[in-house]
This record gives sequence, C-alpha cells and structure tokens, in this order.
Amino acid sequence: MKIIAGNWKMNGTRTALSEMINALQNIDTQNTIILCVPYTLLNIDSGRIALGAQDTSTHDHGAYTGEVSAQMIAETGAKYVIVGHSERRQYHGETNNIVQQKAAAAMTAGLIPIICIGETMDEKQSGIAMQVIESGVRECVPPNTNKNIIIAYEPRWAIGAGITPTDDEIAAAHKLIADTLSNMGLTNIPILYGASVKATNAAQIMSIPNVDGVLVGGASLKPDDFIPIITNVK
Ligand code: PEP
Repeated sequence: MKIIAGNWKMNGTRTALSEMINALQNIDTQNTIILCVPYTLLNIDSGRIALGAQDTSTHDHGAYTGEVSAQMIAETGAKYVIVGHSERRQYHGETNNIVQQKAAAAMTAGLIPIICIGETMDEKQSGIAMQVIESGVRECVPPNTNKNIIIAYEPRWAIGAGITPTDDEIAAAHKLIADTLSNMGLTNIPILYGASVKATNAAQIMSIPNVDGVLVGGASLKPDDFIPIITNVK
C-alpha cells in the first residue's frame, strides 16, 4: 500500500475537483489518495480522498493579513498540509526553521504535515545534496514529533522539469532520510518521492526501497494522468 498525494498548486476549480473526486471514487486501489488543493477548495465533500492544504501560517490567529492557520485548515475537514514546498522556499524565502515552525503548527492542530526537503541544482552540482537532505530532515522535523508526519523528498531541480534523478540517487536519498529519522528516534515515517512523477515512471519509482509513495504536481491535475499513477501500483 502506497501514499499517492497530488499537489494542485495554484490550479483548480470546484468543478475540476468534483470531477476528480468522482473519477477517483470507484477505482480499484488500496492506496491512500491525498489531494492538496488551494484553500478555497478545501471545504468540499471529497469521498474516499483525503484533502490537504499546501501551506499554513506559523501563527494560530491574529493580525497576519492573508495568512491561514493550521487550525482553520483542520476546521475544513482537511487532514494534511504540505510545508516547505520548493516554491514556498523559492518565492517566499522559507527556511528550514520556518518550515519546522509550520510543521509544529500543523501537528498542534491535528494535521499531518507533508514536510518537503530536497536539494537545488546548485547544491547537487556542488556535491552537497546529501548534506542538504540530512540537515533538511534534522532542521524541519519539530522536536518531540509524534509519528504523524510524512516526509517528501523533492529534488528541487527536477520539479516540473520532466526529469528525475536516477533510481540509485532516489534510493540513496530515501535511505539517508530513513536513517536520519531513525537516529532521531522516528521509525515507520512514510517517505514520498516527488518531482516529475507521471504514469510512465511512478510504478518504477515506487518499487525503490524506502519509497512509500509519491507527491505529484502536474500529473495530478487530470484524472487521465493521475489515475494510472494510483492504479499501476499495488
Ligand atoms: C510538486 O510541485 O510537488 C511536484 C512534484 O511537481 P511536478 O510533479 O510537476 O514535478
């Protein structure tokens, strides 16, 4: 059983989400399906699919115009929230420290944070990818974490690029994440791979050791692209 999570980014309408929910309703799978959608789409009956947000404020409430707290997200019925996505880091300057605060806020509200970590192309080319991944885990996972977190390894250079690391690179990154979590006293935490996952590579990627599922961007927007990712994997 795998976790298949979609990240709709700033895409989607109520109609598109209803169509996706209907299309996913009767597919034959035991996998867990999560759709992380814009805040405006969270308050919707999603049937067998769990919904998640794509970001949360670090604050509970107050004078933070435009922000949405984890408690508000939880109140919609959503179960998950992505924190530390590459686009939040790139366009909003989010650091590991901020991501850790967001993950902590999510857990306090009873949400499961999907904590994204991964290296940029510069970091990969400088040979420090593994350090970035390890420090990402150590610095983004809040102290005293219970088991209700998910890690997403998302090599930032591969997101939306149509290219992926080699299977060996994915295996090495996921083993490092599992080992780092274990050294922090955390076992059995799901570790997803994300970046340029599509129907043609998803099953292969999910056969790599320590890959417990995938986080899918572009290919999660349309049922015809998303459903085979879910059904090709048992
Ligand atoms: C993402 O944005 O989390 C992502 C994985 O995007 P894509 O699948 O489009 O590379």
